Amino acid sequence: MTRSDRDEDPYRPFTVPDEPRAFRYDGEVRPGEKRQFRYEVSETYLGDPVAVPVTVINGHNPGPRLLCTAAIHGDELNGVKVCQELARAYDPTDIAGTLVLLHVVNVPGFQAQQRYIPIYDLDMNRAFPGGSANTASRMARELWDAFVSRCDACLDFHTSTRNRTTMYHTRADTANPAVDGLARAFGANVIIGGPGDDGSLRKAATDAGIPTVTVEMGKAHRFQPVLVEKAVDGVENVMRSYGMCEGPVAWPGWFQIATSGEKAWLRAEEGGLVDMHWGPYPLVRAGDTICTVSDQFGDEERVVEAPFTGLLVGVLENPVALPGHPLCHLARVAEATADEIEAEIERGEFDGYRANGTVWRDGDDD
Ligand SMILES: [Zn+2]
Repeated sequence: MTRSDRDEDPYRPFTVPDEPRAFRYDGEVRPGEKRQFRYEVSETYLGDPVAVPVTVINGHNPGPRLLCTAAIHGDELNGVKVCQELARAYDPTDIAGTLVLLHVVNVPGFQAQQRYIPIYDLDMNRAFPGGSANTASRMARELWDAFVSRCDACLDFHTSTRNRTTMYHTRADTANPAVDGLARAFGANVIIGGPGDDGSLRKAATDAGIPTVTVEMGKAHRFQPVLVEKAVDGVENVMRSYGMCEGPVAWPGWFQIATSGEKAWLRAEEGGLVDMHWGPYPLVRAGDTICTVSDQFGDEERVVEAPFTGLLVGVLENPVALPGHPLCHLARVAEATADEIEAEIERGEFDGYRANGTVWRDGDDD
């Protein structure tokens, strides 16, 4: 493939220069240099700096610039571990192009171990590309100007919210070829399609021509080694597909893209206690009982059945519900795919997930 063909490839909407280039933010990381530093994005009430830990690994050889971001929601820690592992794993001799890691985006939330910026509960993932309106949008703007806008593609790592859990999956605007290509290269089995919410890093960056995929992995407040390892492999796969490092691109044995017509939130119709009956694996066939909602005396009980065959990509963990409360998020899979997944389950390929506790995580996150 010639360079000009590659420039026109809708799956790789970036131009790779002939010579390695410096990565410039306020400072500069030269080709062949690996730098780790704190980048100031705000100040505390004490006037002390609020600074994001950053790693920039700039390869000896030219290539695209890939950004990985973690803990935009401050209590979502698996991605923090992914960034730490990536920072240790790669040196400039290993890669063509630049790997940029924002280890903890929402520093105030991380320090408080909360999802939002603790002051006024601001959601950093509704503040991109940033502005001057409030602390969240100012922090977002600093990071946007210095890092996001200077990269060619982005992977944004999330986990579930407290009391929920979700299957390892990605969220991506699969109608956009560049985003679709990035999500497929990352290689999670399940991709939930859709453009994302206004103000999310994913949507803002994608709208700005920087294809971005959200990775949803496991629970808040935990490191889950099996999921972290999968995600680190996923980043390597993306780098291989972009020509940033050597090696074959590994494609998942099966994958499923669920768009709006193919997924459903099942909600409680009444308040009460929730007993989950699905499992131990997240595959349910049409008509299977997913859970029951009962009153305190156990007299009234509603059975919640799967309206179609699918994967439970998000389930409630805290076993109490109010009317309208989401019980689970179900993504449709074709019967043939369900058979493949069942065969994998029988071969034990899902067992590693179980050994590490739940695979699932919240659904609304992103
Ligand atoms: Zn999140």
